[in-house]
Amino acid sequence: MRMIGSFMSKAMDKAGLTARARHPEKISKPDSPMRRKPPWIRVKAPTSEAFFETQNLMRRLRLNTVCEEAACPNIGECWAQKHATMMIMGDVCTRACAFCNISTGIPSQLDKFEPQRIASAVAELDLAHVVITSVDRDDLVDGGAAHFAEVITKVREGSPATSIEVLTPDFQKKNGAIEEVVSARPDVFNHNLETVPRLYATVRPGARYFLSLELLNEAKRLDPQIFTKSGLMVGLGEEKGEVLQVMDDLRAANVDFLTIGQYLQPTRKHHPIARFVEPEEFETYKRSAYGKGFQMVSASPLTRSSYHADNDFKKLKASREQKLTF
Ligand code: SF4
Repeated sequence: MRMIGSFMSKAMDKAGLTARARHPEKISKPDSPMRRKPPWIRVKAPTSEAFFETQNLMRRLRLNTVCEEAACPNIGECWAQKHATMMIMGDVCTRACAFCNISTGIPSQLDKFEPQRIASAVAELDLAHVVITSVDRDDLVDGGAAHFAEVITKVREGSPATSIEVLTPDFQKKNGAIEEVVSARPDVFNHNLETVPRLYATVRPGARYFLSLELLNEAKRLDPQIFTKSGLMVGLGEEKGEVLQVMDDLRAANVDFLTIGQYLQPTRKHHPIARFVEPEEFETYKRSAYGKGFQMVSASPLTRSSYHADNDFKKLKASREQKLTF
C-alpha cells in the first residue's frame, strides 16, 4: 500500500524542496525526524476515474483545494466521491502555523471571479453539501469576510439545494467580519481550534485560543440556526485532560459539532508528532464529547474537518429535528 499525500511530501522533503519552496520561514528550523505511520493511518493511492474527473475539474476552473495543499491523506476516498474542499483567496497563507503544509508568504490579490468559479464547480459536481475554506488573509482589511460572503451567495444562487459549510480563519476580530459571513447564511460555521491552549505558542503562534472560542460563540449568537463546528488534532503533545477541557470550553461557546483527528507531520521542518493516538482512544474521546453534550462528534485517526462532512451534516440536522420533536 502506498501512502498518498505524505508520500508526495516525503519525496519532496527528501530533497529539502517542500520547506524551501512552500515554507520559507521554516528553513532555519531544526529537522524533526518523520515517524513511520502505524497501519491504521495508511491509505491507498487514488486510482478511480471519479478521482481524476474531480482533479480535472479543479484544474479547469483554476480552483485550489485544501485536500491537495494540505496533502490530506483522505484525498483518494473523498475525490472518488467528488467531495473536494475548495480553498478560496489563493494558495498562500499569511500565517505560519507549525502543523500546516499550505504555502506561506505574500499572497496575491483577490480574484473577483473566484466566487462564480466555485459556484460552477459545486453545480458541476452536483454536491449535496460543500465545504469551503480559505487561507488566512491577515493582509486584507476584513480578513476576506466579504469574499467568503460572496462565495456563499454565488453557490446558493447556482445550487439552492446544496448545504454550505464554511471553515473560516479567525479574522483577527476585524470589524464586522464575522457578521458579514454569518449574514450570508451558511448552514455550518466551522472554525478549528486545532490544539489545546498550552500548545498555541508553538503550534499556532499567530492565533489566540480565546479569540477562536469567541468567534464560534459569536457566530452562534448572531444566528442560532447556524450549526457551529470545530476541530482538534491530537498527537501534538497534548494531555487527555487538556482535550477534555477544550471540549468543555467549546460547549460553553455553544459549539454543536466536534471533530478530532490525528496530526500528521508534513515535512521534517514541521512540528514533530508526539505520538500516534490509537483508534480506541479516539472512541474514548468520542464518548466523552457526546457525554458533554455535542450534537455530533467525529473522532478517528483520519478524521479531518471536512471528512464525511455531507453525511455528518445530515446526521446533525436529524439530531436537531429529533430534539425539536420531543
Ligand atoms: S478530508 Fe477534507 S481535506 Fe481531506 S481530502 Fe477529504 S475533503 Fe479534502
